[in-house]
Amino acid sequence: MTPASDTSSPTLIGTPTPLLRLERIRKWFPIKKGVFPHTVGWVKAVDGVDLTIAPGKTLALVGESGCGKSTLGLTLLRLHEPTGGRIFYAGSEITSLPPRQFHPYRKKMQIIFQDPYSSLNPRLTVGETLLEGMTVHGIGSNRSERLDRLRDLLPQVGMAPDALTCYPHEFSGGQRQRLSIARALAVEPSLLVCDEAVSALDVSVQAQILNLLKELQAARGLTYLFITHNLSVVEYLADEVAVMYLGRIVERGPAEELFSSPAHPYTQALLKAAPDTNPEKSTLPPPLEGDVPSPAHPPAGCHFHPRCPYSFEPCPIRTPELYPAGPGRQSRCFLNE
Ligand code: SF4
Repeated sequence: MTPASDTSSPTLIGTPTPLLRLERIRKWFPIKKGVFPHTVGWVKAVDGVDLTIAPGKTLALVGESGCGKSTLGLTLLRLHEPTGGRIFYAGSEITSLPPRQFHPYRKKMQIIFQDPYSSLNPRLTVGETLLEGMTVHGIGSNRSERLDRLRDLLPQVGMAPDALTCYPHEFSGGQRQRLSIARALAVEPSLLVCDEAVSALDVSVQAQILNLLKELQAARGLTYLFITHNLSVVEYLADEVAVMYLGRIVERGPAEELFSSPAHPYTQALLKAAPDTNPEKSTLPPPLEGDVPSPAHPPAGCHFHPRCPYSFEPCPIRTPELYPAGPGRQSRCFLNE
């Protein structure tokens, strides 16, 4: 059995020269059963997503755990191979480039994880880990030049150069995340995917890391895809927001407008539940109850209909498209049809 082609997702907001463009990206995982395992179905973790990010901007990808946002982040970096769809970096298609040709793009697109140990090897000194990435990507002509670059880089992330000789366990969570950022920056990327990069940190440390990311973006012209379930973080950092539910984008638009007047009932419920955001909350539906349904068995029609307080006749039957919901905004809801 092979995944069928998905034609349900129209193109989202375009920019003239996006750094990253995703066209109907899908990542489906096979469900295997039997003594001689065969595919009996698919977990549609990402199901026809179109996104663009302009250079130097921040797109926040938000949604509850299990909605597919981390899978999307890994797929656009080709750490998961996409099941379907196309990925463009600065106008060049990179979807199925062989490893040797993809190598220069790997350097341009880096990721920062929630757990810094994912990118800092606990058995190596910080310096060895950072040098390793630089060597693989041909940054600097020799070890001595690479070390000089790292000594310049570490103060830019708020760390002293002597951190290079220490091991990751010698640092606090916030310091380790600064070092993860340094590891990513050491190979001179243009795009950073920040996957819940501050979620595990104390609130005061979160603010410091967010400030650092903002400063680095201003100084280096970085482009961010910021993946998070925390809408307070998004409000501070994002230029645009894409809201994801069960593998699909359900709303997208400029951050300010989306926060002041969310169009999709799912976005409205997320904002109602977020303590620090500031829409006119009395007009919003109650916060969500229950978990995101399994992407192996998503509800028919609008995936959100079993949890939606406004569900009506067509919702369990037809799949809504992304409809215009104001300047630069789209919402996947029949109320915006
Ligand atoms: Fe709710 Fe229907 Fe809109 Fe889906 S399409 S969000 S179920 S009103």
